[in-house]
Order: sequence, then structure tokens, then C-alpha cells
Amino acid sequence: MQILDIHSHFFPKQWEDLQARFGGRDWPSLKHHGDGTAMVMKGQQKFRPIYDACWDPDVRLREMDQQGLCGQILSATPLLFGYERPVAQGEYIAKLFNDAAMAICQRGRGRLFAMAQVPLQDIDAACAEASRAKSIGHVGVQIGSHINGRGMDDAGVFTFLQHCADEDIPVFVHPWDMMGADRTGDYMMGWTVGMPAETQLSIVSLILSGAFDRLSRKLKIAFAHGGGSFIFLLGRLENAWHHRDIARGRSECPPSHYLDRFSLDSAVFDPGALRLLVDKMGDQRVMFGTDYPFPLGEQKMGGLIRETEGLSEQSRERLYAGNAKAFFGIE
Ligand SMILES: [Zn+2]
Repeated sequence: MQILDIHSHFFPKQWEDLQARFGGRDWPSLKHHGDGTAMVMKGQQKFRPIYDACWDPDVRLREMDQQGLCGQILSATPLLFGYERPVAQGEYIAKLFNDAAMAICQRGRGRLFAMAQVPLQDIDAACAEASRAKSIGHVGVQIGSHINGRGMDDAGVFTFLQHCADEDIPVFVHPWDMMGADRTGDYMMGWTVGMPAETQLSIVSLILSGAFDRLSRKLKIAFAHGGGSFIFLLGRLENAWHHRDIARGRSECPPSHYLDRFSLDSAVFDPGALRLLVDKMGDQRVMFGTDYPFPLGEQKMGGLIRETEGLSEQSRERLYAGNAKAFFGIE
């Protein structure tokens, strides 16, 4: 059975000194240790330890072979988005990292694909980069769950999504710069609590803003980490929609009506949670994703779908690769 991972991350092995080019002190960079490991730096601060699977396609392909994956879609780590920077800088780094992602894919023997990042702080620039990225081979774009505090119900985000629908560019929404940071600083709670809440917020904002009532049905949009807390708390949202008019926002229908307008990845790490996801979304709206090659990703890649009972062979096939191929237009 083919297994295609839609949620994995990369870092280029090296890139130009952005601090030297633009000034400022908090640019991302890598500090290599010489043994295949490196530390991601944000300015002078240690951000995350990584290893060569991030930048070396041969290492990635070897690990994919060991775990039975046929393909992987790479996307930037949100640290590289740069939404908070001036537009010209955002445009520059988007091109820089998008071109670097394609360079890795070109050494991927037809098994590696990439989603682009875009300078969402300027919607025209974001649309232009999304189109450019598609023209050089990117299979979609990855965007963060908000733009410097403006959520998925922002008018600019709507314009961007409509552009992607018109140009047939799939969109993957990844949580970043998580809410409640002042209370989740310890124990990696930004990742374990903040991220799922952030993604839930992005889906709920999109639904209640009425975006799906106005956006083209051609839009292909997916959310990371199984949609965060969204599916588990859909009943609460639905109840609120029916019993408080102010909880309806500008949506024409109850939230559950819109489940056929987006997809989720499978990175939920628990068979019961995956079954709930498939029950609610249907087996054509969940796509295998790991968050490889990070410690909070699925370590035994593909294991969760394999070990989740009650999925038919056809469902497994759809989750593992069929849905992703159709979503991203991959042969
Ligand atoms: Zn991720």
C-alpha cells in the first residue's frame, strides 16, 4: 500500500546571513555540530535541535524506505515564515526558502514534493509568490494560522484563499505563534496545548465568518494535527450555534454543514482520536501526516493508521495516499 506523508518539515543546510542583509537580531540560522546534527537558532537563542534528515534528501529517503513511505511533502517550519517583517523582507525570504525546498525535492528521485510559504503580511505579494511557487513545481502552499494576530476570518486571508481556489493551489494551515503564550511557556505546552487550540480557532474562525458560504467550492484547504481540538469539540460549537444567535457569526449553516469543505491530517497519535476524525470527516477528508522529522512527530511513521482498528482497507488506502494524491494533484 502506498504511503504519502503530507506533513513534514525541512531546513536548508545553509542559507545566507539574513542579519547581515537586513539587520536586526532575531533571524533564524543553523549552527551545525559537524556530526549530522544542528541547532536551529533564533538570533542568539537556541530554538530546536534537528538532524540531517531536515536538509539531506538521501537521509530522508533512507528513513522513508525503512518505514515504507513512498513520498513526502516538505514544508517550512513556521519559524521561517517571517510574517512580522517588512513586506520586502517577507517576499525575499519566501523566495529564498521556497527555492531551497525545490532544490531538495530535485534530489528526491521523484518522491519529494514541497509546499511553499508566502509573505502573508501583504496579500498581493502572497498571491504572487503562491503563483510563482506553483510555476516552479510546488504542489501547494502552507500558511500560518494567523497573520500577526489577524485570524482566518480576515478579509485579506479570504482574498488569498480565493486566489488559491482560482489558481488550483492547495492550502495547508499550520499553527504557529500560539495563543496564550504567556501561560504556556513551560513544559512545551505551547506545542501540546497552544497548537491544538490555535488550529481549532483557525477552523472555527473560517466557518463562523461565513467564508465557506462565499469561497469557491474549488478551494482545497487542509489543517494540521487533525485539526487540533476542533473535531472533539464540534458538538459544543454546534450546540452554541443552535442556542445563541451571537455564536453563529456570519455563517449560514451550522458548523457541521461545512465539514465537506476542508481536510485534516492524521497527526493525532491515538487510534481512538483517528477513528473519531474519520467518523466525523469521512475517510476522504483525512490525509496521512507525521510532522517528521521532529520529536513531536509520529515516530513509527504510518503506524497509527496501521494500528487503528475498524478502518476498511479502502479507508486505509485513502488515508495513506489516495486522498493526498487527489488533493495535491500528485501522480
Ligand atoms: Zn508541523
